[in-house]
Order: sequence, then C-alpha cells, then structure tokens
Amino acid sequence: MSTLRFQALKETLNRKPVQIDETLRRSELFGKNVFNETVMRQFLTKEAYQSVVDANIKGTKISRVIADHISTGMKEWAISKGVTHYTHWFQPLTGSTAEKHDAFFETIGDGLAIEKFAGSQLVQQEPDASSFPNGGIRNTFEARGYTAWDPTSPAFIYGTTLCIPTVFVSYTGEALDYKTPLLRALQTIDQAATDVAKYFDKNVTKVTATLGWEQEYFLIDSALAASRPDLQLSGRTLLGHSPAKGQQLDDHYFGSIPSRVLSFMRDLEIESMLLGIPVKTRHNEVAPNQFELAPIFEEANLAVDHNSLLMDVMDKVAERHNFKVLFHEKPFKGINGSGKHNNWSLSTDTGVNLLGPGSTPMKNLQFLTFFINTIKAVHDNEELLRATIASASNDHRLGANEAPPAIISAFIGSQLTAVLDELEKVTDGKLSPQEKTDLKLNVVGKIPEILLDNTDRNRTSPFAFTGNKFEFRAVGSTANCASPMTVLNTIVAKQLIEFKKSVDSLVKDKKMKKDDAIFNVLREYIKKSKKIRFEGDGYGDAWQEEAAKRGLSNNKTTPLALQAQVSKKAIALFEEMGVMNKRELVARHEIELEDYSMRIQIEGRILGDIARNHVIPTAIRYQNILIENVRGLKEIFESDFEKHSKEQLSIIKEISNHIENINADVTDMIEQRKRANVIEDAEKRAFAYCDDVKPFFEKIRYHCDKLELLVDDELWPLTKYRELLFTR
Ligand code: ADP
Ligand code: MG
Repeated sequence: MSTLRFQALKETLNRKPVQIDETLRRSELFGKNVFNETVMRQFLTKEAYQSVVDANIKGTKISRVIADHISTGMKEWAISKGVTHYTHWFQPLTGSTAEKHDAFFETIGDGLAIEKFAGSQLVQQEPDASSFPNGGIRNTFEARGYTAWDPTSPAFIYGTTLCIPTVFVSYTGEALDYKTPLLRALQTIDQAATDVAKYFDKNVTKVTATLGWEQEYFLIDSALAASRPDLQLSGRTLLGHSPAKGQQLDDHYFGSIPSRVLSFMRDLEIESMLLGIPVKTRHNEVAPNQFELAPIFEEANLAVDHNSLLMDVMDKVAERHNFKVLFHEKPFKGINGSGKHNNWSLSTDTGVNLLGPGSTPMKNLQFLTFFINTIKAVHDNEELLRATIASASNDHRLGANEAPPAIISAFIGSQLTAVLDELEKVTDGKLSPQEKTDLKLNVVGKIPEILLDNTDRNRTSPFAFTGNKFEFRAVGSTANCASPMTVLNTIVAKQLIEFKKSVDSLVKDKKMKKDDAIFNVLREYIKKSKKIRFEGDGYGDAWQEEAAKRGLSNNKTTPLALQAQVSKKAIALFEEMGVMNKRELVARHEIELEDYSMRIQIEGRILGDIARNHVIPTAIRYQNILIENVRGLKEIFESDFEKHSKEQLSIIKEISNHIENINADVTDMIEQRKRANVIEDAEKRAFAYCDDVKPFFEKIRYHCDKLELLVDDELWPLTKYRELLFTR
C-alpha cells in the first residue's frame, strides 16, 4: 500500500477548523500595525510629519536631519509594540518579497547597549543582495545594489519586525526591482492626466492611478500537498487524471465556504486589517477548493505593496491552518485556473474618478476623453500589454481556451459602443451650434451616471470596462501587479500627452473651440482604435480567426510574447516617458527569459523523476501481481486458461506499452534539456525550452494518467485529483 498518500488522507480527514478569536471589530483593528497618519501625528514632530505628507503628495525630498527625527519616532512607536528588528522590505525581480532583518540593538562600550535606529538606516541600506536577478546590470564584484526608503508607502510591523518599504536599485541608479519603474510610471501618468484634466477643471493639481486587485488561489491541505512532489516543487500538478466530478455542476462557485477555509480566511483578514490591507470580499471561485479575496481599491503603489505583502501573509497564515496556498495560474489540468484581475482607474485630488461617467454633459466629455484615450493606448500597445503578463505559469491560462485569450482586446458594452458610434459621426472641423446641442442632449448627456449596474459583463475579455474602471483580467495569479501597472500607466500617459498636443494644436492653429477640438481628436481615435474593441466570446476559435484578420497579435507563449518588451517601439516609449532605459529593459527581458527556462527545466526534472521513480515502479508492481494471477490461472485452468486470463493479459500488455512510452519520452526530454542548457543566448534557450522540451510534458503525462486508471488504487503513490480537490 502507498503509505504517504493514505497517511496524508487520514491526517486531512481528522482535521478540525482552527478556532478564531474575533472580539475586536475590523474597523478597530484596521491599520493598528501601520505607521499611518494617526501614529505619525503622535510620534513625530510637526515638521517631520509635514515632511512625510509633502513627500507623499508633492514628491518632495526628505532632508537628512528630518529623516533622523522620523527614524527616531518610528523606532519609539515600534518598540512600544514589542518590535526588536527592522528591515528594508523590497520586491526584487524574483517575484517574491525580500527582507533582511537588523536588530535595533547596538553596543556602546563598557558593556552597555542601547536601541538605535538612525535616519541613515531608514533612508538607505546595502543589503549585499548580490544573488537577486539583475540581468547583468550589477556585476557582483563591481557595483553595489542598495535599497532606498519609499515614503509614499507607510512602514508596518509584521511579527516583531518593523518593515520599511523600499526601492532596490543598482549603484548607478538602475532599477533592480518592480517598484522603481512603477513609481516612475505613476509620476508620469500624474503629470499627463493632470494636464488633460485641467481642460475640464482648473482646480485639479494631482491625478492618482488607483488599483483594486482580486486575488484568486487554491487551498490544499498541507499533508496532501506534501504528498505530491510536483505541487511541493513547482506549485502545480504535472500529472493526475481528471476526477469523475470536476467543476461541471458549478456547485462550488459562490457556495458556502467550507469551515476550515472560513477559519483561514477570518484569520487572514484579521492579519490584513492590522497591516492596513483593506480586504473586503471573500468567496468560493469556480473550481473546487478555489477561492478569491479582494480589497477596497487604493493608490496603485500602495495596492501593489499590499498585494505582495498579502501573498506572503497568506502563506504564513495557511501554515497555522494546515493548508498550502497555491498561487499558480494552473495547478490542475482540466480545472479552472487562477488570475489576478487588476481593476484600474484614475482619480483627481478634487475627488473625481476620471473613468466614472458624470451627471452633466461636460463631466461626461471628461469621462469620454479618458475612456477613449485608454482604449487608444491599449490599441497602440496591445503587444506590450501582452508581454507584461507573460510567464511560464500564465501561459497555461492565456491561449489555452480558458480565462482570457492571449489576444488583447477591449470590451466596453453595448451602451458605450453606441455612444462611440455616434461620436464617430461628428463633423470634421468646427461643429455647428445645432450639432453641439444634439450631442450634448442625445449622446454625451445620455450616458447614465451609474453605468455600473448596466454594463453587460463579458467574462471572456482580457480588458473590460466595468462601469467606472477598466479591469485587466489577463494578469496571472502569481504576478506582481507592478509590471502590468507600470505598462498600463505608461502607455496611457503617453497617449494623454499626444492627445493634449493634438487638441492644443487644433485650438491654436485651426482656431477651434476647446470642445470642438476635443470632439475632433476623439473622433479620430475612435476610428483608429476600432480593431481593439471586441464584444464577443473571447474563448472561441472564431475570435482567433477574426483577430488574425484584424492584425492583432496572438502570442501564445512567453518567449514570443516577451519580444515586444524590447522592441524598438517599446524602448523608445519607456525612454521617452522616463520609466525605464534600454539597459533596464534588456536586463528585465533577460531575467524573465531566464526565469522561464528555469521553470520549464525544473518542471521537466520533476516530471522525469515522478514518471521514472514513482509511476513506473508502481506500474511494474501491479503488473507483477497480474502476472502472478495469470500464472495461477494457468495452473488451475490449463486448457481454457486463455479465456479466463484474457483481460489480465491485455492489461499486462497495456502497462508494458505505457511504460515503454514513458521511458522513451523521458529519455528524449532529457536529451532536449541537455541541448537547451548549452545554448548561451537566453532568448534562444527559452525558445528551446518552449518548443523542444515542454511538448514532452503532455506526452509523458498522457501515459502516466492512463496508468493511474489501470493500476490498483491501493498501490498508487500520488494523491489523486479527487482527493486533492474534494478532501478538506
Ligand atoms: P468583480 O469583478 O468580482 O465583479 P467588482 O467589479 O465589484 O468585482 O470590483 C472588483 C474590484 O474593483 C475591487 O477590488 C474594487 O476595489 C475595485 N475597484 C472599484 N472601483 C475602483 C476604482 N475606481 N479604481 C480601481 N479599482 C476599483
Ligand atoms: Mg473582477
């Protein structure tokens, strides 16, 4: 009998929900471990507090002297809450968060010690993090990388450590993390959007990009997960036959939450509250054991930090509940995968959501301006947008006939389609007073203020307008939201700058009125960006054909998709907008290719190991039982033994056939891996892994899964899909 699997099952079945003590209200818990406004007022001098606020709003620098005040205040607050260490907390390009703890403790001679945290330690650190991916920017022997405080994201306490959100850059100032380019992009969109928003309201001085992510994930009992080497090491199952029951009954979606899971969620929510992560919704997702969590949206930089932090907290809280969280985009074949929808909008310091339709025609013209410019930006940069969400794990979703396809398109719903169709007919040049009145009454004035409940939902679209925001749905569940947010904000910023140029020039050179000019430019954008708009079924084959006819990209694999990241056009765009330079882009490209190759390499190794060392020996053991049985039958029945052992003999042959195939395929796969490994060029190597190694996965899996169906259940060593998905 396969002991590990049955032990794990037994352990799982005996589990009880962990009791969660929830005496304080959520609102009381919220932000208790965050160095927020309230705490700052209490622990900082007026001057120091004002300096942080200014850095936040105006981006002004904080002086060294003030930094000393701030660090002292922070330390006092932290120590009052039992904190012993501090760390610069950052997001290197590995995809997870990084921290290196230092104690406040310092000796001062004569056997004495104090608690110390200087301004310089708050502002900057050299973590000697030479092993993080840097794509050649930072040779370990030459230049140091350092972390620098990001005062726009508040420090927080996790456990007994004070965490200070920082950027991670090379000594020469190049970005080695996710946050640096994001901050640059957010600054760019602020400027560009503020300039355009001023057309409609002179009082606007700042525009903030907002992000509300939705995190999907699977929860698997930790004992069951530990019984599967593939889940342990790659985060997904590399083999396993589909269970008789999957998600076809849709009985999990929005169903009642299993009690152990609910305990986990409540525990997680309490932790999130303390950290100031405003989590709001929780529910079951489509697949069995799949769930979702979403917060109230926040300023994009903070939202990105909060998502990274949350993923880390989820892992830790899950341990207490004997769960393993699977963030992978496709942990189970044949079962829905996980995404991380990025809801995005722009909001002014006067409190207006620029993607929210308003109550007057003027407000709606403002809405249409930002709405149409976003669509135009997506149209012009669809391939870059696709590149930003490319990863080995997300390839299983995009382009695999589920979730959104690898083709980027925008869905806007029938009401707004009708509005754009009308606007497309606007006169070229100056508009007559009659036309303007008509437009105001019948088109712009007719957009209902609350589109939210009226917009038809299209779940198959990768980029959908959902009433007062765009929802980028193709983002993968493991992704750091900073990448898609950097690109989206950069392309929209670029677009808004062009828009303003065109409008200003019509006003100046063609002597047009401002609203005439705006209508004229928008009309052209609607015409030019038509091909990106798609209202139909994004999963169907018909769309693949139609999209090809329209000339939209359909990059189904990561190495292919990533090319757009370093195209001439992309480099020019990022450099012009001051978001990333060529060196940074090329480095990132290389890191992502490298990551891709390594992931496929690791999966290949695990699969080879499981197939040869777990599956084949088990199959042989079962085959021997059958052979024994046939021998016995022969002994008893002699002459008509063939008749009685027909089935057994055919299974024996079938098993041999599968074993032979697995063995041959594993040998060939290893051969291809060897070939790929010696390729110097990172891109060529990634293509080799994609085109020559990866195709073996399905072949090997096919035979292993067939064996799973043949072999005695008692002998099968790997916890089965039905057990992973339905035991809790
Ligand atoms: P679903 O897509 O699951 O139906 P909703 O569309 O209601 O859910 O909202 C999902 C997310 O959208 C939430 O995280 C919410 O905070 C976010 N959201 C709402 N308004 C905005 C906005 N203006 N900017 C960014 N995110 C927003
Ligand atoms: Mg959503």
